[in-house]
Amino acid sequence: MHADVWGGELWIDVLRSTLEYGLAPKSWTDYLYLSVGGTLSNAGISGQAFNHGPQISNVHELDVVTGKGEILTCSEEENSKLFHAVLGGLGQFGIITRARISLEPAPHRVRWIRVLYSSFSSFTRDQEYLISLYGNPPSQKFDYVEGFVIVDEGLINNWRSSFFSPRNPVKISSIGSNGGVLYCLEITKNYYQSTVDTIDQEVEYLLKKLNYIPSSVFTTDLPYVDFLDRVHKAELKLRSKGLWDVPHPWLNLFVPKSRIADFDKGVFKGILGNKTSGPILIYPMNRNKWDQRSSVVTPDEDVFYLVALLRSALDNGEETQTLEYLSNQNRQILRFCDDAGIKVKQYLPHYTTQQEWMDHFGDKWSQFYQKKMEFDPRRILATGQRIFMPSFLASSSPSSGSVAPW
Ligand SMILES: Cc1cc2nc3c(=O)[nH]c(=O)nc-3n(C[C@H](O)[C@H](O)[C@H](O)COP(=O)(O)OP(=O)(O)OC[C@H]3O[C@@H](n4cnc5c(N)ncnc54)[C@H](O)[C@@H]3O)c2cc1C
Repeated sequence: MHADVWGGELWIDVLRSTLEYGLAPKSWTDYLYLSVGGTLSNAGISGQAFNHGPQISNVHELDVVTGKGEILTCSEEENSKLFHAVLGGLGQFGIITRARISLEPAPHRVRWIRVLYSSFSSFTRDQEYLISLYGNPPSQKFDYVEGFVIVDEGLINNWRSSFFSPRNPVKISSIGSNGGVLYCLEITKNYYQSTVDTIDQEVEYLLKKLNYIPSSVFTTDLPYVDFLDRVHKAELKLRSKGLWDVPHPWLNLFVPKSRIADFDKGVFKGILGNKTSGPILIYPMNRNKWDQRSSVVTPDEDVFYLVALLRSALDNGEETQTLEYLSNQNRQILRFCDDAGIKVKQYLPHYTTQQEWMDHFGDKWSQFYQKKMEFDPRRILATGQRIFMPSFLASSSPSSGSVAPW
């Protein structure tokens, strides 16, 4: 089952249209007011990625206008080099005008559960266990696995998380973390009218295998669409208070599983201090769900984590929340990883020099470069990413060598 959608369509509209047929895409981002072309040019990840792979692993076919002005249909079978290049290709090879997206029967409702941990090793062990169940029948695995870090009390109710209140008010002090960092595992189980009788049993069976703080289970139940569109609700609230259109110095990192404990010690329990200025997501994914022929780069391990520091800069006089402070802290985190030899890869990076992009792509750079020369030789597409300087600028620039100043 699939839908053909325009590249400029928003995922929320794709969802609304497919629901008319009782169907829905399988893999999502946390926020749905993003375009299909935009997320497919990056990867498109959320808590379903461990199971279905990122959104780029759920595309059958694309129509693309290349930098040479050719309009090409591409897929695994047809123009496959262009197909793989464009997926995660940061808009460098062509403009996606149509995408054929894989669909499944749309679940009706979602059981949404949060449990807390004070031990990082128990938290990651459980997350890794849950994502290892990807090959199980649907009744024997969760459908979504995410998590977040709580370093300060305010954050238990961050903007991504209207979940705990008002029906589930939580005081961190009541959990007994002794002022330390807490970790929240967030999981969901989808269900249909036909499985309503077994959902309690299935959830209970899966929860039994986990080692969270026993008194910390928070559950809610809601329609599938409301779950998928949860961040938009928070957006409307923030917009009404003038808190949405503020600078967001976000830092998204893919961290190899083997070094996530070092990352915890150095960053969550170290650099961040006791104030984070926004949600910090952390969840693992299975690399075998990522097609290595796409343009995305991931760490070279079977399991890697997304750590997303989604912070907002507020210029309200508080030193810890200014743009400069948070940007400096981001640099400090990257330096820490570098010094500690933690081979992170940035997701949605904002590099400004070609050398940084070459380092980012590593072994994939020469292929990336060759494909650029093949599909957009004049380097006119998505120049804002600052990977390649357009030829009309490069020829008039004093430093027109292969390593452009941006
Ligand atoms: C509030 C918010 C929440 C987010 N949450 C997530 C998340 O949970 N998971 C996740 O993976 N990402 C997330 N993102 C990041 C998001 O995937 C990227 O910002 C993506 O680029 C957004 O798409 P857009 O429609 O806004 O793209 P734009 O900002 O319009 O474009 C970004 C880039 O994508 C490329 N591009 C856009 N359209 C096309 C096209 N049709 N053809 C070729 N290239 C194109 C271009 O290179 C362009 O420079 C989030 C972003 C925001 C603002």
